[in-house]
Amino acid sequence: MERVLPPGMSAAAFDRGLIALRAVVGAQWVLDTDEDRETYLDPYATGDRRAHAPSAAVAPASAEQVQAVMRVANAHRLPLWPISRGKNFGYGGAAPRLPGSLVLDLGRMNRILEVNEKLGYCVIEPGVTFYELHEHLANAGIALEFGFPNFGWGSAVGNAMDRGFSFRGDHSSSICGLEVVLPDGSLLRTGNGAMAGSPTWATARHGFGPSWDQAFVQANFGVVTKMGLWLHPVPEQVISVQVALDQKDDLAWFVDELSPLLMRGVLGGNIAISTATNSIIDNSQRKDWYAGPGALPDSVVTRMMSERGLGWWNSTVRIAGPEDTNEANLKRVLAALHRHSSRDYPVSRATGASQAARGPVVNRLKVLNWYGGRGGHVGFSPVMPASGAAVVAQFHRTKLRYDEHGIDHNCTFYLNGRTVTNINLMLINLDDADHTARTGRLFDALVADASAQGYAEYRTHLDYMDAVAASFDFNDHALRRFNERVKDALDPNGILAPGRNGIWPAAWRGQRNK
Ligand SMILES: Cc1cc2nc3c(=O)[nH]c(=O)nc-3n(C[C@H](O)[C@H](O)[C@H](O)COP(=O)(O)OP(=O)(O)OC[C@H]3O[C@@H](n4cnc5c(N)ncnc54)[C@H](O)[C@@H]3O)c2cc1C
Repeated sequence: MERVLPPGMSAAAFDRGLIALRAVVGAQWVLDTDEDRETYLDPYATGDRRAHAPSAAVAPASAEQVQAVMRVANAHRLPLWPISRGKNFGYGGAAPRLPGSLVLDLGRMNRILEVNEKLGYCVIEPGVTFYELHEHLANAGIALEFGFPNFGWGSAVGNAMDRGFSFRGDHSSSICGLEVVLPDGSLLRTGNGAMAGSPTWATARHGFGPSWDQAFVQANFGVVTKMGLWLHPVPEQVISVQVALDQKDDLAWFVDELSPLLMRGVLGGNIAISTATNSIIDNSQRKDWYAGPGALPDSVVTRMMSERGLGWWNSTVRIAGPEDTNEANLKRVLAALHRHSSRDYPVSRATGASQAARGPVVNRLKVLNWYGGRGGHVGFSPVMPASGAAVVAQFHRTKLRYDEHGIDHNCTFYLNGRTVTNINLMLINLDDADHTARTGRLFDALVADASAQGYAEYRTHLDYMDAVAASFDFNDHALRRFNERVKDALDPNGILAPGRNGIWPAAWRGQRNK
């Protein structure tokens, strides 16, 4: 693929920038061959891959080098796109929002700087993967754990920076204390880290005055070079309750019964409840079940349910804590379930240590084989109130759209207590242009439907960042205008992640919606 440069930049000006970057990080850490550029493309892009093609990548080894890279980027007007491990699949992978940006790859900065078992936190650099964090804790016999997403190869920092989550809930809410390189190259520590040598940087959340950690999440105001993350003490025992619900509308009572238990702390983290199809897509292919046109008919889903012993909805409710408390909480959970159905809910018990020892995996990637061909995936993930009626209405609205567009439906609802997050996987055969185009149209329809309800996505793909940001329209998009005032103050040359989450610096504002 032809090299894509930042809009309006000449090759000569760009190459002068690369020479200055090589002087900072060493020639081998400015990656600008065709093969390098290919590495950072979005493998699941549904449109023209050049729309988010990087021009090159630069991989600094320290916060000092990140500072120097920022200064060069300002001097040469080079837009940078920071990634920690760049595994943001489904949301754009490592690729930048603005074509021609340089990927600022922080993978070399992968030190675990501190783990405090007694106070339950770690301080890590961006390149630390979930695998590495898990191995470090396991090898040192530290009885702490962190929730991991479906893939262990991602970065604990990068995932939290995009508000990723696991059964432990939203990982950005575990952040406590950041070290950040600002777009002008200066270095900031947030919270109590702003006091040199403070022992409470990663334990006291807010410090003194405004609390800034969350302002850097899903934003483009700085590059995080260190992060304090709260870890969870490994629970004494974990009880798992298997739930299978046969009717689509059973989801309503499940949400209304279980959400209050999350709010009252009877259950921790979140509860995932998924369609039967969600348990099928990672261990078989569509052709094993159905070869017809259009979306998978409900009759096929019913066959899946009976052959695999699944409900339309399936969940493992996790009760974690001391044994005696768990047994009391189990009674509460079973009482809530039995108010609606007398069926059997199988219960199993394990030590927390044996559960924690399992560690992260990557096998969920098999879902990409569902249709055959070159697999791709986009996630559509709106957030709604924890009301059974609202959740079931959203499910029916979404399923209808999938059926209309001839795309197989599967999804998970994550109960968080006060809200429910609905992750809909759109699996794609990228070799099928018609299927890929229909998926794009389905996504647009879902964004419009959700915003008509006042629901927005918790996170989105590069292609939809402007559309989702635009749906936050109170007072003529006052929030977007505020974000962009902050952006312009911190980053007058617009060099850091232009367009991330719909926040465009003045220098690149004309690129919105392009
Ligand atoms: C089938 C499937 C299942 C998935 N399941 C899950 C899941 O269960 N939970 C989940 O959370 N995700 C899931 N994902 C999405 C994704 O794979 C993970 O979130 C992954 O952890 C993100 O990649 P990463 O950790 O390498 O982050 P990165 O790609 O490194 O970072 C993500 C974004 O954060 C910003 N960023 C990263 N680091 C910095 C920094 N140091 N400073 C400033 N900004 C930064 C950048 O904008 C970057 O693009 C799934 C994806 C697929 C395809």
